[in-house]
Amino acid sequence: METNFQTRMLTIEEGLSDAVQLLRQGEVVAFPTETVYGLGANALDPKACKKIFKIKGRPADNPLIVHIASVKDAKKIVREWTDAAKMCAEAFWPGPLTLVLPKSRIIPDIVSAGLNTVAVRMPAHPAALELIRAAGVPLAAPSANISGKPSPTEGKHVRQDLKGRIPLVIDAGKCSIGLESTVLDLSGKTPVILRPGGVTKEQLETVLGTVEIEREMGESREAFIPSKSPGMKYRHYAPNGEIILIKSADHKKAEKIAGWVAQKKSGNKMALICMEETKGLLSTNDLEGIDFLFVLGSVNRPQEAASHLFEALRSCDEEKINFILAEEMPEEGIGLAFMNRLRKAAGESGFVDPGKI
Ligand code: AMP
Ligand code: MG
Repeated sequence: METNFQTRMLTIEEGLSDAVQLLRQGEVVAFPTETVYGLGANALDPKACKKIFKIKGRPADNPLIVHIASVKDAKKIVREWTDAAKMCAEAFWPGPLTLVLPKSRIIPDIVSAGLNTVAVRMPAHPAALELIRAAGVPLAAPSANISGKPSPTEGKHVRQDLKGRIPLVIDAGKCSIGLESTVLDLSGKTPVILRPGGVTKEQLETVLGTVEIEREMGESREAFIPSKSPGMKYRHYAPNGEIILIKSADHKKAEKIAGWVAQKKSGNKMALICMEETKGLLSTNDLEGIDFLFVLGSVNRPQEAASHLFEALRSCDEEKINFILAEEMPEEGIGLAFMNRLRKAAGESGFVDPGKI
């Protein structure tokens, strides 16, 4: 693999023809979507797709999502376009919903990690749609970060992780959703959410009726149940610092935050990621003790707050924070996806030995 690329950052207007040429040559190009930035390659070219795994350090058993720009193209890569798929596409495409369906033979095994299903999504970002259309092939694209790190929600995050490893990032600033797509398995009898994301369970239920949620890694190690979605078992979204979770419904959360801050040893750097309302509960003294404060937004606008989570985690790394107090969100609506990512970022328990702080 070539690792000395210059990694140009271009807008879609500037970079479209180069991006298309690179994709046709079997190279990998990063591009914006409304969820997070994707690391795309021609999904029909196994050699190109292999590069994605190498560039990211992604385990080979974690399949890729294939991005298309029309339902007609989705139908070409699946064996069966079911009624449920039709209803979901009508209601949520283009948008942050990935459908898992039996795969057609044109999808190489490396894309589906040997599974007989394929994950397919039509992104809503105009630059993504333009690129897919111009390339004339479906694009396999996982998030454009080093495996294990928080997903990139800005072009500059992609460059931080992949500089020198890829030739081109199509840059369009911040992603509006900022959390990955919902992965919905439609290959069985009942629709199952394999990964919560930008389209909520509540929204899916209005279209499909009952929707189940795949049980996966629970609160404790003992509760670990291997998931049907292979990617869900890996460490994900992790910043360099250790995360301490603060319950959103805890009436004493301001005191708890103050307690953690007071306990901090000199030399350690502590960040607080919280909602606007929680910041309002803290005294000037508490706020002064915090080395880095990132306010996600208001509890009244959970979508917007959730869209800043990955940015907040990456900012903590830039600030060289070693302990991160992170406020939870209620697990409803987009809060389900937010908490899925935050828990994974925190590790299995979210427990930090107070003696270390
Ligand atoms: P990423 O592209 O990094 O956002 O991750 C893609 C997610 O989709 C991972 O959790 C994968 O396990 C999941 N996924 C992709 N293809 C399939 C498939 N055929 N069956 C089940 N899950 C899939
Ligand atoms: Mg990812």
